[in-house]
Amino acid sequence: MAHVASAMVLCQQWNRDFQTHSHASEAIASVILLLAQLDSQVRQIFLVQGLPVPWTTQFILPPSEGCFMSLDEAHVSLEVKVNNNALKLLTSGIDISTPEALAKKEDCLHEFRRWNSKLKTYLAVSPHERGTIAANVLYLRRSYAKVMLSLDPTKGELAHDEFIEDYAQMLDLASRILEGLNDYSTVNSDSGSKPTKRHFSVESTVTETLFLIGVHCREPTIRERALELMRLYPRREGMCGTMLALSLGETLTGLERTACQTSPPGSCSEGPWVCADHRVTKIQCKDVSYQKVAILLRTAGEQRRGSEGKWFTFHKTW
Ligand SMILES: [Zn+2]
Repeated sequence: MAHVASAMVLCQQWNRDFQTHSHASEAIASVILLLAQLDSQVRQIFLVQGLPVPWTTQFILPPSEGCFMSLDEAHVSLEVKVNNNALKLLTSGIDISTPEALAKKEDCLHEFRRWNSKLKTYLAVSPHERGTIAANVLYLRRSYAKVMLSLDPTKGELAHDEFIEDYAQMLDLASRILEGLNDYSTVNSDSGSKPTKRHFSVESTVTETLFLIGVHCREPTIRERALELMRLYPRREGMCGTMLALSLGETLTGLERTACQTSPPGSCSEGPWVCADHRVTKIQCKDVSYQKVAILLRTAGEQRRGSEGKWFTFHKTW
């Protein structure tokens, strides 16, 4: 993780340098978008490692009170003003039920609603943008932000049950994006490549969403479809790769799938599909070697009984 921290400190310096140059704003906006997405991803990686984030970030965009002028502008605004700010709050270790945290979360939600209304205005006069890959990526990242900011922390893992419809819509979007990107790369490489061809991207599109659904959505059809998309379309986006996410998702799903059925009668608690007690509530990672990572999975029931949970070792394949 030391390398990641050094790389991100360097990125923060670039970010400051880029922001002092007001010319070539489109290129700078693209760089700020990527830096903000990387920062958002790394915060989640540090969180599961139980490490504090050793840098502070301040992504500054030019003030804009009017409408969006392009989908790109809307995208940068969403990633910097909503997603990154939300992740800074949610991965900071703050007790989210305190008045201070609730006020910050309300600020994020306010920014999210403002952003949504500006996007609506933009799309009303730019109908040709609807249905494009860029628009679908934006809708998917919007849904990701919405879920992240709307989950009720007092309900723990059961909170995700309220977003089954969102998860289904997000999967449809992810599926369309992946099919579109695959068609695009097939046409461009003219090699007739199969969907299983691995794909690298610096930009965040579907990986975090598929991981979110694979891990936290307990409705079995939707969950399995998320894992299936990761199997069909192996890709790495920034710091996140679908192959490790898939291995982890399969292990976690395997644990939860049989937990309720194999438990003594009367030992389950409330909750559809997988009861609250048998849901994995803690995921913690630690590096084992350059090639391997150990991941702890602990259910709410194990936590209540003072049990550590189970460690699994995975290859750091992406
Ligand atoms: Zn159970």
